Amino acid sequence: MVTDDLSLPVFEAGSVWLVGAGPGDPGLLTLHAVNGLKQADALVYDALVGPAILDMARPDCEKIYAGKRGGKPSPVQADISQRLVRLAQDGKRVLRLKGGDPFVFGRGGEEALALVAAGVPFRIIPGISAGLGGLAYAGIPLTHRDTNSAVTFVTGHGVGGSVPDGIDWAGLAKGSPVIVLYMALKHIAAIAGALMEHGRAPGEPVAVVSQATLPEQAILETSLGACAEDIAAAGIEPPCIVVVGDVVRLRAGLDWQGAAKGRALDPNPLGLSRRQETG
Ligand code: SAH
Repeated sequence: MVTDDLSLPVFEAGSVWLVGAGPGDPGLLTLHAVNGLKQADALVYDALVGPAILDMARPDCEKIYAGKRGGKPSPVQADISQRLVRLAQDGKRVLRLKGGDPFVFGRGGEEALALVAAGVPFRIIPGISAGLGGLAYAGIPLTHRDTNSAVTFVTGHGVGGSVPDGIDWAGLAKGSPVIVLYMALKHIAAIAGALMEHGRAPGEPVAVVSQATLPEQAILETSLGACAEDIAAAGIEPPCIVVVGDVVRLRAGLDWQGAAKGRALDPNPLGLSRRQETG
């Protein structure tokens, strides 16, 4: 196994590793994540972490579900944090596995601070966030010189389940040519409405990537003005990443998964006349 050649860290008993599992495809795990899975005594995992990844843990590893979906009761965040503390204090090597990256809309910061408060040693292992990995699998770059030099990651879900009120939609509409929305499905009509109210064109391209990087991955290309209706009509299910901006047009050239199934790719998806290369 490739990890045997690297001097990857030993998982100390009584410590917690807070690990990002990536968006779903097990191939997007880091070597640190795999190394942790091979050593952990206890695995505390979220709903977005799939069985193929859980199966990489040791057969005798205790697997504890801490997800917030799937019809099971939602564990309170403080209870999850306390559970991590108790398992570590019992001398376990505790792997806390979260979808994507633990520090991107994942409450990893809250859990790590609870470990700090309890004096439990920990390590953070980043993962590929759905907003990066999911869009890459859809053939949509986050930035491109001809479309944008800034991108913003936004959560569409506030603390109480409402549209987050702390977001400056006017500033976002004006200042961020590309907007990547997590947890946005429920409030997509309000979000698209706010962006258009503050100047974004109804015809601006939008892509919705559901179950990104998994075999069930599905992509809907739509527009800001039509997205709420199109999403409802297509019956798209979470988890989804929604991206707003001209980078979506690049998919006509970069849909590498489509190409593998016979889609002809357009080498000039933005329809530009030849660029003078400036280096
Ligand atoms: N920490 C995670 C995000 C957790 S919030 C990360 O970095 O990716 C949960 C949201 O992430 C979902 O509602 C969805 O918007 C997004 N998400 C996670 N996995 C996804 C996937 N495989 N496909 C599409 N969206 C995903």
